[in-house]
Amino acid sequence: MHRIHLATAALVASAALAHPASAQLERGTTATIQPGESCPAGMTEVRPGRCQAPEFAPPSIVDYRPESTLVAEEHLVPRAKFPAVDFHGHPGNIVNPEALAELVSAMDELNVGVMIAANNVSGESLVQAVEAIAASPWPDRVRVMTGIDFSDVGPGWAERAVAQLEADAAAGAVAIGEISKSLGLRYRKADGSRLAIDDPDLDPVWEAAGRLGLPVFIHTADPSEFFEPFDNTNERWLELALFPNRRYPQDEFPSFEQLTEERDNLFRRHPNTIFVTAHLGWHAADLGRLGRLMDELPNLYAEIGAVLYDIGRQPRGAHDFFVRYQDRLLFGKDSFQPNEYPYYWRVLETEDDHFDYYRDYHAYWKLYGIGLPDEVLRKLYFENAVRIMPGLPQTGWPDA
Ligand SMILES: [Zn+2]
Repeated sequence: MHRIHLATAALVASAALAHPASAQLERGTTATIQPGESCPAGMTEVRPGRCQAPEFAPPSIVDYRPESTLVAEEHLVPRAKFPAVDFHGHPGNIVNPEALAELVSAMDELNVGVMIAANNVSGESLVQAVEAIAASPWPDRVRVMTGIDFSDVGPGWAERAVAQLEADAAAGAVAIGEISKSLGLRYRKADGSRLAIDDPDLDPVWEAAGRLGLPVFIHTADPSEFFEPFDNTNERWLELALFPNRRYPQDEFPSFEQLTEERDNLFRRHPNTIFVTAHLGWHAADLGRLGRLMDELPNLYAEIGAVLYDIGRQPRGAHDFFVRYQDRLLFGKDSFQPNEYPYYWRVLETEDDHFDYYRDYHAYWKLYGIGLPDEVLRKLYFENAVRIMPGLPQTGWPDA
């Protein structure tokens, strides 16, 4: 018992060294600072230029749980206003009839009209999935994307990959993806070098996607903070401290800027192929940047999954962005957690103020509704998806 205690104490001590702001200062300690300087660790600026330590040991960021005193109107939205296509679906087993029945009943409650499985399924597994859906009582509720295997890119790879895409398209795939962040971060070529996202050896595949009318759904990099130094100024400190595999140290991985530049080159080189950048391209905290990219590239679309915390903290800017790019945005949720969808509906459909998000470690702040008009909601939820994927049910959607 004693030994465990010591080990814990040692861990705490090393964490305190790495993050000196957790040091407790003596009561009443003060300091003065010059304009542009920040207070010493453990103090806060109480008057211009004057820093002071709190009288009591401050709670850590995991223990500080302030309860909002704001009383404001609440409009909970358990069901989407219009049937939504979940472009970024990761449902579990869709081949098993019972699992499929469960999925469809969860979709009914949320008003998700079509779930697109973005699980990189190809060949025989894809055929099995498509057949199971077609034979079920819900042939129009689920669609499947095909995938691309990026291992061993080298001579002969492109011919095989294109032939597989053609077979998967004929079998009923409606898009390609999700191309994972491993493209750029981890895949190596047959010769051992890093496979760049814009490697010319991949070109025939992207061209084939355009020819076959399959949009390419691609996840590149991760939030830019994951590539930044892991210190007290990092907005995702808690998440990075919880999940070591989200840290991309500069000496081991390409930078966020390099990855996004390779991605954008890829989009530029294939103007006849539709690309859908996942998670708003990880530019949800800089929508101006994403907007400039979309202005330049008419073949670029963006999916909104897993960045609700950024959309909901800029209700006016996000509203204007969604209105301006209403023809190029797709609803997607990413991980299939039915109880999380209503947070999306509430942010997108209401003008509610200052409400909780479902994950503290992503976002220590609150969300606001961006109040999109019906015309924009319809496009975001289903019209854009139905337009760019002929393999989706083309009828049965609500009239305007
Ligand atoms: Zn995904």
